[in-house]
Amino acid sequence: MYFRDIPGKEKEKAYLLSNAKGDRLAHAQLFLGRTGSGQLPLALAFTSFILCKERTDNDSCGKCSACLKSHKLIHPDIHFSFPVVKKDGKNRNETTSNDFLTEWRSIIKINPFLDIKTWLHSLNLENGQANINVKECVEIVKKLGLKTFESDYKVLIMWMPEYLKNEGNRLLKLIEEPPENTIILLVAEKQDAILNTILSRVQLLKVNPFSDDEIKLHLEDKYGIAQKDSDQLVGIASGNMNTAIHLANQDTVNYSDSLFQWLRIAYKMEPVELGKWVNEMSSWGRENQKNFLEYGLHFFREYLFSLITGRKNLRLNEYELSIAQKMTSLLDISKTEQLISIFNDCIGSVERNANPKILFLADSLSIGRVMRNMSVGKEIYTV
Ligand SMILES: [Zn+2]
Repeated sequence: MYFRDIPGKEKEKAYLLSNAKGDRLAHAQLFLGRTGSGQLPLALAFTSFILCKERTDNDSCGKCSACLKSHKLIHPDIHFSFPVVKKDGKNRNETTSNDFLTEWRSIIKINPFLDIKTWLHSLNLENGQANINVKECVEIVKKLGLKTFESDYKVLIMWMPEYLKNEGNRLLKLIEEPPENTIILLVAEKQDAILNTILSRVQLLKVNPFSDDEIKLHLEDKYGIAQKDSDQLVGIASGNMNTAIHLANQDTVNYSDSLFQWLRIAYKMEPVELGKWVNEMSSWGRENQKNFLEYGLHFFREYLFSLITGRKNLRLNEYELSIAQKMTSLLDISKTEQLISIFNDCIGSVERNANPKILFLADSLSIGRVMRNMSVGKEIYTV
């Protein structure tokens, strides 16, 4: 991984570069940021930079013998540790990161911004209980006790130390007084889920979420997403590059058109048209339905924000803005809040595997009622 492949993050990169070039490298560093903020790619780029034999001022060269291995995650002086689940044919307590290195390398190649869900999904083991177990900790201590093979440093990258329970205390001495030429990089999302004893022994690098522009640029550059579509994806992703990449990898569906079509149909409540729409929506996969609903939530949140504050700097593209403009005569603050709650509930139902035909029909009727101001029970409360 190169630093230049990670959009933005100027502050974080400057800190890491100066750390690497300084006299004394921090021997234990925590990269902490919200899910999808790029802390793992930063740790990988940092590691390649440290080991590179012909680095430039601000990145690894990509060509030297160290880079040829570090960029492929096969350098013998780079050790990885991450949460795993029980591997087939193995005892749960016997399964360690070593058993999943091939899978780890392939997913990082596809998406280094991954979160734990993406990781377990890539293994087809979403339902497993992931952890970093005692055996793993013992192996880490052993591995880092060895001499370096090819470089001046050996590096441990531990992804998600949140999954270390009390066995993490076995690593304390290692973190406090690492063996010579050893660098420990912890890559995490939730500070309060990390053992305090570990937290107090590491240097903290806070990694900020990506800005919309950084995500847009990355999607357009690396995934060839058209500008109109990237505007929409960015809105749903809210600074999370992992989500943005998921959306970019799906068949591109124009969610805004589908959303406005739904509102129109729900408002008219014409049975044949409504039936057709419900069938169409039910044929979408669950993930796609969820993304569509998330998009709807994003749109209504922005719309509500503009109704309340009167501000015009919304995270919507021109097309969405023009529709939002037209809606103001139809949807006021209270109705918009009701729609947001319908969309929220609908996402929950999709996640719980509700029957999509029943769900989308019922929600179409609810949306229609809200838009036409016929909310059930309202007559009871108003004179
Ligand atoms: Zn190099």
